[in-house]
Amino acid sequence: MDDFAQFNSDNLDVNIVVGAGFSGATIANLIASELGEKVIVVDKKNHIAGNSFDYKDENNITVHKYGSHIFHTNNDEVWNFLGKFATFNSYKHIVLAYIDGVYTHIPFNFNSLYQVFEKEKADNLKAKLLEKFPYGDKIPIIEFQNQNDEDLKSLAEFVYEKVFLNYTIKQWGLSPDKIDKSVTARVPVYLSNENGYFQDKYQGIPNGGYSKLIENILKHPNIEIRLNTDFKDIQGKFKRIFYTGSIDEFFDYKFGILPYRSVNFEFEVHNKEFYQQNSVVNYPNDNKFTRIHEYKYYLQEKSDKTVIAKEYSEFFELGKNDRYYPIANDENQALYNKYLQEAKNLNNVYFLGRLGDYKYYNMDGAVERAINLFKEIGNDIK
Ligand code: FAD
Ligand code: UDP
Repeated sequence: MDDFAQFNSDNLDVNIVVGAGFSGATIANLIASELGEKVIVVDKKNHIAGNSFDYKDENNITVHKYGSHIFHTNNDEVWNFLGKFATFNSYKHIVLAYIDGVYTHIPFNFNSLYQVFEKEKADNLKAKLLEKFPYGDKIPIIEFQNQNDEDLKSLAEFVYEKVFLNYTIKQWGLSPDKIDKSVTARVPVYLSNENGYFQDKYQGIPNGGYSKLIENILKHPNIEIRLNTDFKDIQGKFKRIFYTGSIDEFFDYKFGILPYRSVNFEFEVHNKEFYQQNSVVNYPNDNKFTRIHEYKYYLQEKSDKTVIAKEYSEFFELGKNDRYYPIANDENQALYNKYLQEAKNLNNVYFLGRLGDYKYYNMDGAVERAINLFKEIGNDIK
């Protein structure tokens, strides 16, 4: 057998990367290609690509198994790195929310004003907003609520209650004031006529899908992939360990379990060309699910059927479901910091990724973090 290493013995010339998502794939590629070292990537799942995993189904539709993934970044280095492994289409994400019987644009913007209010009222609110703020301003809802003007105060109350309050309770089990304000600030009130969900310089979907992109990042003679392999079953010493699993699990939960939100997708195939008018429709106030994804929009795939997924959120419970979203608040950060301190006592073990850093990274943030970690290691070697 020509495997790089047996897991029951020491392999001091081999690096182990735990997790084959964006974080693990990026660090594995850099170690293999830039340092010329051997890397074994293990993943406990039966596929690569982590939460960005997608597959083409029997209807010729590329399904994102763990929810819609739209790539967007302002980071040239990240964009250039990924550009070596995939081309991206020019898809620009738009999100609608169903509010009081109307489909309106999210982030809530000037067009949303006209979708939910009569023209006269919308004209008045828009004029008042532009008196107070510059066109194009993005204002987190928690700050937007601080209004002196009565009309703007009631607008802020409307947006808070209709867009944020119930969606955030469904998604996080907490109201917006109980979760770190960076979470709802991801979707600000946007004083603009632009409907895009993101305004990043680079946006799109990889033309061959995310799994293919990750496969290409991992395609290197110095990289071996072992799926269905949990790090806890591996013995022996390695040159370095890059761990993109949850940091509390690595330390056997010695300080307690880090809380996460999990999500659950109910897939449906419909015998019609389109199910809804947009790739994602949010349901802040109606239904138990948070949003409905319709996948054929992303790569403009032709089929007389369509696949949708209804997304439900629930607490992560060890052994019951998977971790998806770190829950950002002071208490959880304090628990994470204990693990971080413990990690500093280890040699040649590095934590990264959404689970390893307990951080709400987008895909570009995960790649950026891996690139920066690689640079730090490079500086240490020199
Ligand atoms: P992951 O993709 O979670 O990969 C970690 C891997 O480690 C997993 O495959 C896991 O099986 C493996 N692993 C963990 N523990 C072990 C162990 N002990 N042994 C072996 N393997 C292990 N980002 C965007 O930029 N745009 C989007 O539109 C977007 N939409 C999202 C929608 C949803 C519903 C979710 C949940 C996330 C979304 N993201 C989006 C975020 C994106 O999924 C993450 O940024 C990205 O997946 C992080 O990659 P990662 O490698 O750090 O983690
Ligand atoms: N949010 C909301 N209503 C919406 C969209 C977003 O309340 O219609 C809040 C909610 O708290 C959500 C957060 O903004 O968790 C971040 O939204 P984003 O779309 O970035 O979440 P993700 O796609 O990462 O799940």
